[in-house]
Amino acid sequence: MANYIPPEFISEVLTRVDIIEVIDSRVPLQKRSGNNYVACCPFHNEKTPSFTVSPTKQFYHCFGCSAHGNAISFLIEYERLSFVEAVETLCQLVGLSLPENATGPVHNTKQYENAYKLMSTVNRYYQQQLLQHNDARQVNHYLQQRGLTKEIIEKFSIGFAPSGWHNLENLFKNNTNVRKLLVETGMLIEKEHKHYDRFRNRIMFPIHNRRGHIIGFGGRVFVAEDNPKYLNSPETMIFHKGKELYGLYEVLQENRRVDHFLIVEGYMDVVALAQHGITNAVASLGTAISKEHLQTLLRYAPDLIFCFDGDAAGKQAAWRGLDIILPLLKDSYRIRFMFLAEGEDPDSLVRKLGKDKFTELLQSATSLADFLFNELTRGIDANDPAAKAQLKEKAKPFINKIPAGIYRELLMQRLAKIIRIAPERLNAIIMDKNVGATTASTKTTQSSKFKITPMHVSLILLLQNPALIVQLPAAFSAEELTLPGHTQLAQLISLLKTNQISQLTTGAVLEYWRDQDDYKTMSKLASRQLPIPENGVTTEFLDSINRLQDMQREVNIEQLINKASFSGLSPEEKINLQNLILKKVPEKEAK
Ligand SMILES: [Zn+2]
Repeated sequence: MANYIPPEFISEVLTRVDIIEVIDSRVPLQKRSGNNYVACCPFHNEKTPSFTVSPTKQFYHCFGCSAHGNAISFLIEYERLSFVEAVETLCQLVGLSLPENATGPVHNTKQYENAYKLMSTVNRYYQQQLLQHNDARQVNHYLQQRGLTKEIIEKFSIGFAPSGWHNLENLFKNNTNVRKLLVETGMLIEKEHKHYDRFRNRIMFPIHNRRGHIIGFGGRVFVAEDNPKYLNSPETMIFHKGKELYGLYEVLQENRRVDHFLIVEGYMDVVALAQHGITNAVASLGTAISKEHLQTLLRYAPDLIFCFDGDAAGKQAAWRGLDIILPLLKDSYRIRFMFLAEGEDPDSLVRKLGKDKFTELLQSATSLADFLFNELTRGIDANDPAAKAQLKEKAKPFINKIPAGIYRELLMQRLAKIIRIAPERLNAIIMDKNVGATTASTKTTQSSKFKITPMHVSLILLLQNPALIVQLPAAFSAEELTLPGHTQLAQLISLLKTNQISQLTTGAVLEYWRDQDDYKTMSKLASRQLPIPENGVTTEFLDSINRLQDMQREVNIEQLINKASFSGLSPEEKINLQNLILKKVPEKEAK
């Protein structure tokens, strides 16, 4: 995607933008001694700030969870924007507009904007119909019956799509371009070159993305015999069900800080709860809760309560939620499940109980561990050895999904207790075949033993201080290297040499790698801290370059000597080898 916007333009944007401003307006930053700013990390839960932002590097890095990147990465991660959306957001901030001659997504960006505008016009029309249409009385009566006040109807921008097949086409006077966009946004259905309204005779709940744009609708019938009861916008270019949550925009508008989220099943539940002062409920939209949904919520609050119907379908939905959340678990998270009595939903229950009693009820929600073990041990006799083995096998895949930490430990201890086996032994049994956890633990040992080579030092220092490029000895040619990392170094050097280096920051440099396989490696290196004082950076850099040359010489000598013993050397190679050895000697003597 990045290729559609010229890299020079992206550099220009990143040069004008200040990452401090971008992050501070979303996550308030504090100035620390030196140049850096800190905050509690928005990407993991913590009490002391380890999220650091450098204005000189235009780069952020978290020492807790290793999140890192430039202003574009921040918006992608924090606001879950696409790459183009992130660039566009930054453009608006510094008064640049995306280049007109750019192709692809830029064209899309305009299309997105048009789609948002159109959806908002359509929604205003629906809201108007709720006030003026001849059939609106029945709808308003229904909403009143459900206990919704004018204020809450307005807050959620609820409207009414009247019956009839061509309301939207008439609204836009049969404009062909608008009709096309109405089809693309799922508002019109196209069949054999004819078009008709998707939503007819329904109460309309607009779905906002987190930036407040309307991206789709949920439509609910208000006449009992109409079908289907709920109808949602289909997947479109602006509406992705696996990503968006109904009510999240409203929750974030209402609360500066969210302590916990209530995950419910329908939009009527969200609205009814808000009507009763419970303003932290969200719902997935005609789809099961996804990993992306949960990650989004956990970014705002570490505490989630799944609030589902007590019937089989509700239990199943909760079990699916549990399965998805296990790999995401951290010790600081609190995940709970509440099952309502059969026939109840949060909407009916909060109307019956009121806010206080409902909130009280939430306190009795089942913990994730209880829910997991209740389900696993259902129908199992812990005294029967065969059943114990069965339980162990049943529990294994679940426990193995949980990342190492206290949470996992506690669940293991609990399982050990139930099947009466020493925790260490159970641990051994489970770890044995646990590929995921083993690789994870080897990884940590590997990274703690991560050996920094001169190549790493060169790359790290050059990434962190692009201006060092002017210090690079003229005779040094990265193209002649064969050491691991040589391609990245050659690429980096050529990039810095062909650009106005005084303007490129770490964040801007990294942008050139975004679409490449090396992006992760390069950004990891860029965020690596080397214990080098600021005034020692140049010396250390030149030293690492020197050492690279030495190492390469050793490699070349070894290769030639090997070749000599196998197949002999050409006269040219002999001279080459001699020169290499001669070059090596005086340096050794000098030391
Ligand atoms: Zn973090």
